[in-house]
Amino acid sequence: MKPFEFVTALSTESARELLGPKGQYLAGGNDLLGRLKDDITEATRLVNIKALPDLNRIEPGADHWRIGALVTIAQIEDHPEIRKVFPGLHQAAAEVGSQQIRNVATLGGNLAQHSRCWYYRHRDIQCLKKRGRICYAIEGDNRYHALFTGNVCISPVVSNLAIALTALDATAIVLRDGQERRMSMAELYELAWDNPTAHHSLRPGDLILRVEIPTQRRRSAYLQISEKHAFDWALVSCAAAANLENGRLRNVRVALGCISPVPHQVAAANQFLEGKAPDDDVLDHAADLLLAGAEPQTHNAYKIPMARALIRRTLRQLQA
Ligand SMILES: Cc1cc2nc3c(=O)[nH]c(=O)nc-3n(C[C@H](O)[C@H](O)[C@H](O)COP(=O)(O)OP(=O)(O)OC[C@H]3O[C@@H](n4cnc5c(N)ncnc54)[C@H](O)[C@@H]3O)c2cc1C
Ligand code: SF4
Repeated sequence: MKPFEFVTALSTESARELLGPKGQYLAGGNDLLGRLKDDITEATRLVNIKALPDLNRIEPGADHWRIGALVTIAQIEDHPEIRKVFPGLHQAAAEVGSQQIRNVATLGGNLAQHSRCWYYRHRDIQCLKKRGRICYAIEGDNRYHALFTGNVCISPVVSNLAIALTALDATAIVLRDGQERRMSMAELYELAWDNPTAHHSLRPGDLILRVEIPTQRRRSAYLQISEKHAFDWALVSCAAAANLENGRLRNVRVALGCISPVPHQVAAANQFLEGKAPDDDVLDHAADLLLAGAEPQTHNAYKIPMARALIRRTLRQLQA
């Protein structure tokens, strides 16, 4: 690891100033410190943001909840009201890594984590995402990669919380150039759809302050399938949120993770599910719509039946 300065920011304004041109915000460090050790990311200064005031609160509300960017994933998992009001978010948090990781990892860091593509994470490989010339995964081992992409990079978004928050229609509040900017989850990742070097839409210096989650959908669920029971990312994940009126889905949103550089959503699937009772035929057609146009790589076609199963199971959980 190369030497760096370590400073602690005491206000959001000073955090941006302290960052300078080659600094990185440090929250729990689970992602950033690994990248620094492996020489994937360079930083001459780490700006510790853990002491920033007010970003470590969970604030319930009648219309929406606010969850600060420094709230740990364990706090989200363990919050008794989140378990009741946003069960899908609770489930997504509970599936992150391991207890030790969840104790330290923050909401903001989870949303801003970098690609897990093993070529990207290899210190000696300069792939397209690291501004090299080619994507090694396309001709290589792409078993964990995407089924959809808008550019050459096939590395998918792997943040559990991003997928659950997408289904819940959450908004990220980001401090950019001194102004608070509201970004939907789709906007928070949209740059990664087109741009192979992007992991998300955040610009250098952007600071996620909090997310706001509307309470309008009373039911939510999140499921994933991983190779290992713990300490592992999902192969595919699925989140759904809706209301249920007389057994029929209302205001449905479904999002899939680990199959696209952005949380995968299909408006036609959400529209199709509107007002439907989620029986087998309905769920199968919703899965058809969600996975239409999927382009499996040489080693990841298994993700399609896995995603179909998760879509069915997750939507069924909304009835529970
Ligand atoms: C073994 C292992 C298994 C894992 N499994 C999963 C999994 O199953 N699902 C999953 O979702 N994740 C998983 N993770 C990833 C883990 O959840 C993230 O690394 C962690 O959430 C990052 O949070 P952090 O606070 O430690 O971030 P840091 O490492 O401190 O920061 C990560 C990045 O985000 C930036 N950042 C941090 N906070 C902010 C902010 N407020 N605003 C703007 N930028 C910010 C940092 O500059 C850095 O670039 C796993 C990690 C490990 C090591
Ligand atoms: S998928 Fe993306 S991150 Fe992985 S090798 Fe290709 S360009 Fe690099």
